[in-house]
Amino acid sequence: MRTKRVLIVGGGSAGWTAAAYLNAALNVGDQKVVDISLVESPDVPRIGVGEATIPNINLTLAIIGIDELDLMKAVDGTYKQSIRYVNWLDDKRQFYHHPFCRYGSGPRDDAGRRWLMSDRSVPFMDTISAQPALCEMNLAPKTLGNEDAGLSLVYAFHMDALKFADYLHEFSTARGVTDYLDHVVGVDMHDNGNIAAVRTASGKRLEADLFIDCTGFAAELIEKKLGVGFTDCSKWLLCDRAVTMNVPHDHHYPGYVRPYTTATALSAGWVWEIPLQTRRSLGYVHSSAHLSDDDAEKELRAFEGDHAEALPTRIVDFMVGRREQPWTANCVAIGLSGGFIEPLESTGLYLAQVASALLAEHFPYTDDMESLAYRFNRITEDRFYEILDFINMHYCLTNRTDTEFWREVRRPERINDRLRAKLDYWRIKPPSVSDFTDQFFPGQADGQLASGGRLGDSRSPIDTGGLWNHHSYENILYGMDFLRDECREWYGENRPRPAVHKKVLDAIDAAPGKLPPHDVWLQRMVGMADYSNL
Ligand SMILES: Cc1cc2nc3c(=O)[nH]c(=O)nc-3n(C[C@H](O)[C@H](O)[C@H](O)COP(=O)(O)OP(=O)(O)OC[C@H]3O[C@@H](n4cnc5c(N)ncnc54)[C@H](O)[C@@H]3O)c2cc1C
Repeated sequence: MRTKRVLIVGGGSAGWTAAAYLNAALNVGDQKVVDISLVESPDVPRIGVGEATIPNINLTLAIIGIDELDLMKAVDGTYKQSIRYVNWLDDKRQFYHHPFCRYGSGPRDDAGRRWLMSDRSVPFMDTISAQPALCEMNLAPKTLGNEDAGLSLVYAFHMDALKFADYLHEFSTARGVTDYLDHVVGVDMHDNGNIAAVRTASGKRLEADLFIDCTGFAAELIEKKLGVGFTDCSKWLLCDRAVTMNVPHDHHYPGYVRPYTTATALSAGWVWEIPLQTRRSLGYVHSSAHLSDDDAEKELRAFEGDHAEALPTRIVDFMVGRREQPWTANCVAIGLSGGFIEPLESTGLYLAQVASALLAEHFPYTDDMESLAYRFNRITEDRFYEILDFINMHYCLTNRTDTEFWREVRRPERINDRLRAKLDYWRIKPPSVSDFTDQFFPGQADGQLASGGRLGDSRSPIDTGGLWNHHSYENILYGMDFLRDECREWYGENRPRPAVHKKVLDAIDAAPGKLPPHDVWLQRMVGMADYSNL
């Protein structure tokens, strides 16, 4: 079999993730079956945001062969064990955690049902996961010997987005990936509609069998050359812009490094706070239809406090939606060129990892790509809408009515119909495992996709439980006080306090003796500076 040539265009984190993953997954041992090259422009900067990850990254790192400590040292990395949602239900500093793990509730998974029967005086996740409490104590998920403390803590990472792409670049080129620093200025086609080669500013003509478009929102190959359309999903997710700011620790150090991401709702969106080893990164994700750039910047500075007065900010525009056929002819769009859902729940890097894994699994060793492309497109579409529903839900369950933005996101037309069907159903029967084995809910229009996409069979592409399952949904639903009125009717006014799982109590007791503060762990294990005397 002839070695297949793959050319990746674009060297952001999506491009270098695809390069590292495909190289590790396809070129096993000394067998080079795929020749991988990447061309990135010296003129177009990477987007430089995307600093929070989800636990699936651990699988990707293991497949690529990346050592966790080595990575954390290189990318200014810290641990992430949860997302802390502040002011989403109301604007009175109410918060809930979306931690990465919970303890099982016995042979029958009825933790949700038991909590619904209680008086809700303890937040749902605090009854079955120790992680919210450990996060509030700012503890690392590992011991100072870098061991698992036996508390079953699942984690992901925060990291500098630009350093992550640089790290993958170095890692991949050391293992045989060829890189070109050159701007792609043209694309040559074969008669059959496949791409033959790209031409660069320095006069090169780079041929390949398969092209991967990782040019970010520019979508140079998939859109500008092949004309593949984009399904806009902004009617369900209104945010389309972020004002970002970095607060270096040597400028202002709050006294700890939080082992979680904070997502605080403001007047027309929400702010991420992502702690790294040298700085905190902040970004006010908002709807430009509801807030001007100037007002968003003012609100972000006021949120952070006086010390943010002189810090520079940057505006990042984005589009929420999906490439209609991300694999078209011999071109596959991965990363922002393939679609983007706003950054709540941090799924951008994950989508590039999933697409790389799927491409490795569906790799076209022959020239017959059509069936492989069909499956790739269908599975990535499922995953996209699965995430869209889940994020849409974070907004539409709010009780906030204090601004036009929050009144708008509650309106029925801002809830996509798959999500509405689920929520209606869960008002009759709370979510449980079987809801994720079948994809169709009563109330969904049969034969028509709310997404406006194609219909492959009689089912809408919604959750397959591949990323979010009933655990994740319970977490957000009950954090947002879902079924409050129904439970009064079902179980009466006088209900008992929620029972807290014994393992949670034991873990909270044991953790401070086993786990160091997150910043102490970072200082000892990956060489973070000590900012405590500033
Ligand atoms: C506001 C915001 C916040 C986000 N937060 C998160 C988060 O917390 N977690 C998360 O997982 N994801 C997040 N994301 C998504 C994440 O940033 C992206 O998924 C990730 O950075 C991948 O980007 P990319 O590689 O597709 O594009 P880019 O980083 O834009 O890279 C594009 C590449 O293409 C190259 N290029 C462009 N044109 C040409 C050309 N003509 N010739 C050659 N090369 C070219 C550029 O030089 C660059 O190398 C966020 C996104 C946004 C917009």
